[in-house]
Amino acid sequence: MKVSIIGTGYVGLVHGAILTKIGHNVICVDKKRENIERLKKGNMTIFEPGLKEIILEAEKNGSIEFTTEIKKAIDNTDIIFLAIGTPEGEGGKADLKDLYTCVDEISKYITTKKIIVVKSTVPIGTCNDIEKILRKKIKDIEVLSNPEFLREGNAVNDSLFPERIVIGGKNIEAINSLKKLYLYFEEKGIPFVISNRTTSEMIKYASNAFLAVKISYINELANLAEKVGANISDVSLGMGLDKRIAPYFLECGPGYGGSCFPKDTKALFEIAKENSEELSIVKSAIESNKRQREKVVQKIENKLGGLKNKKIAILGLSFKENTDDTRDSPSIDIIKKIVNKGGKIQCYCPMGIEEAKVKLSFYKNIDYKKDLISCVEKVEALVILTPWSEFKNMDLNKIKEKMNGSYFFDFRNLYLENKNIRKLFKYYPLGNS
Ligand code: NAD
Repeated sequence: MKVSIIGTGYVGLVHGAILTKIGHNVICVDKKRENIERLKKGNMTIFEPGLKEIILEAEKNGSIEFTTEIKKAIDNTDIIFLAIGTPEGEGGKADLKDLYTCVDEISKYITTKKIIVVKSTVPIGTCNDIEKILRKKIKDIEVLSNPEFLREGNAVNDSLFPERIVIGGKNIEAINSLKKLYLYFEEKGIPFVISNRTTSEMIKYASNAFLAVKISYINELANLAEKVGANISDVSLGMGLDKRIAPYFLECGPGYGGSCFPKDTKALFEIAKENSEELSIVKSAIESNKRQREKVVQKIENKLGGLKNKKIAILGLSFKENTDDTRDSPSIDIIKKIVNKGGKIQCYCPMGIEEAKVKLSFYKNIDYKKDLISCVEKVEALVILTPWSEFKNMDLNKIKEKMNGSYFFDFRNLYLENKNIRKLFKYYPLGNS
């Protein structure tokens, strides 16, 4: 089948690539001309393991096309995905400006029957609104909700082997067209959840908010574990072996981040408020996450006896490993807090430096380093914030040699089991003695 995807970011580009991999032809559209030009030349606009190979293969066999023209997508395909960003807007609500601009553009060009599939994470009721807008132009429009569940850093794998596919819609014929596109997944036995659009939209927010709650819960327990002398890693293990709890998202850290959990929890909370409901558990998770970022800074400050003029190495800028995405990354927030208290930062990240430079452009006293070793040179303390594999296997003796001080804040608990860590450093993990 031939389909198009409007919005060629983390979701749209991966989804397009995967659709070519399972035998379809895809037109990828984005308003960012420079990104489209780069993609046309086979250069990637985002880092995602395994993505480049699939795109290069698709470009070679002609199954993927990149354009800035929405009209081209509409004229040539009957199924059009929307993978437009829906960032945090005013007061925590989702900002749908880009999405509705895109819908307006679509409405300019549609003249025949189309199925619009909303992949973006959108407030409950948005698909209904989109359908209303487009039906003013042409009656024969069906809007489906088909939320995305990929995790950055593992997006290709997640998209090839999804745990479920959720589709929300009214019209059975349109749902069946999308199911036909996803036949490969049905044949692989991937479960489909078919429901109405509002339910589908809610499943996405409910899932992300639940995971955010789980992370905040373990973070709070980690803080308590430190006070009472328990080890959070064993607590997580003991909890996670219970199938009802499951071991995932039970690792404590400096707080959740990224382009989804922070904005989606806030958006869901605001949706509930508009409907006179209070999602107090989600609200607590949002507040707890904010506190967690402050707590890790406080911990560094307390141990170092203040931050003024202290040189600190930050390892990891992206919000998680294997991605260059620094949107709402705890590292960015934590660096700002340290700098505001007079600290001096040397930072390094395998992939996140360029984006971080933009986000931190108004901040002084941040030195971006090209590698791990130069990052720890002459620092008082090092702080691991993102669990990149490069940080899991560091040459500890060499690191110690390069540093001036010996404070080692392991906020991802990567060195808990290392026998030498406490001999070499003043070692501070999270939630473990
Ligand atoms: P992104 O910012 O990486 O990509 C969005 C793209 O849309 C950008 O490249 C932008 O230029 C383009 N765009 C905006 N307006 C346009 C227009 N009018 N015409 C053409 N292109 C336009 O965002 P993303 O991370 O891919 O997220 C997209 C959606 O998917 C969001 O709603 C997000 O919440 C959701 N989502 C993201 C993830 C994730 O891990 N990133 C996972 C699941 C769901």
